[in-house]
Amino acid sequence: MSLDYTSRPPSGANQAPPAPAYPWPSGRQCALMPAFDVDGESVWLAFDALSEQRLVSRSYGGYEARVGVPKILEALAARQIRATFFVTGWALDAQPALCEAIARGGHEIAHHGYWHQRPEPGQDDAMRQELEMGLDAMRRVLGVVPAGYRAPYGESVASLLAMLQQRGFAYSSSWRDDIRPYRHVLADGTPGPIELPVNFSFDDWSYGLTHRHAPRTLMTREHVMSIWKDELAQTRDWGGLVSMVMHPQVSGRPKGFRIMTEFLDHALADDGIWIATGAQIAAHFSACETAAAQR
Ligand SMILES: [Zn+2]
Repeated sequence: MSLDYTSRPPSGANQAPPAPAYPWPSGRQCALMPAFDVDGESVWLAFDALSEQRLVSRSYGGYEARVGVPKILEALAARQIRATFFVTGWALDAQPALCEAIARGGHEIAHHGYWHQRPEPGQDDAMRQELEMGLDAMRRVLGVVPAGYRAPYGESVASLLAMLQQRGFAYSSSWRDDIRPYRHVLADGTPGPIELPVNFSFDDWSYGLTHRHAPRTLMTREHVMSIWKDELAQTRDWGGLVSMVMHPQVSGRPKGFRIMTEFLDHALADDGIWIATGAQIAAHFSACETAAAQR
């Protein structure tokens, strides 16, 4: 296909119809999906291959296994919350004990690539390899066949969606274009995986991580909580889904941990919020979809 998009008539990237307004279970008003991307050190290697020898750059990722994930697992257990962990194959192979601890905590293990390589147009072989190597690591290390996939760097292309469907993934959680789950339509018009769209306001990386390649101003608790509470309250009013994008490299650090736990406590205090894993939300969508088709 020509790379000159101006030679084609304009059309939206997403051909799926509007998201159906299925009710949430038990009369709840909205859903909250606490989710963590376990990038390991692979995110720093993917950023620049020379980083393999840059040990302090890698140590940002190393924090995750040494402190971040254990602290987060304690916090979730104390609150009896089951979360979704999108884990790279790198993390599974380099830190199997850490990933076993996540699974032992009753959390959902989902796919997040192997080397955390960004899906790119025209690079189907590389995307296929990322998918296959990640699936293999999940099977070998944890005996898990994942229901969900979140793209490294949150990018997606049409051929990747088709690959997810072929491999039986129930859902993707990468796109930014809705506040309710919907089912993808593949390029050939057939149904694709369910999308649990991400709310980028809940990507803690933007608020709490700074390094020499991308210096950022760290955000205060008041700043982040104000955004998170407003997003949740309005999504609740709209009957939507808040799908979080937290990283143990950020929300496992002291300040991020306080913000995350305060927010989870805030959500737990509201009976109208269904706190669930991606797999649970996708299964609920699927059941509603089947019921609607039978009516
Ligand atoms: Zn990631």
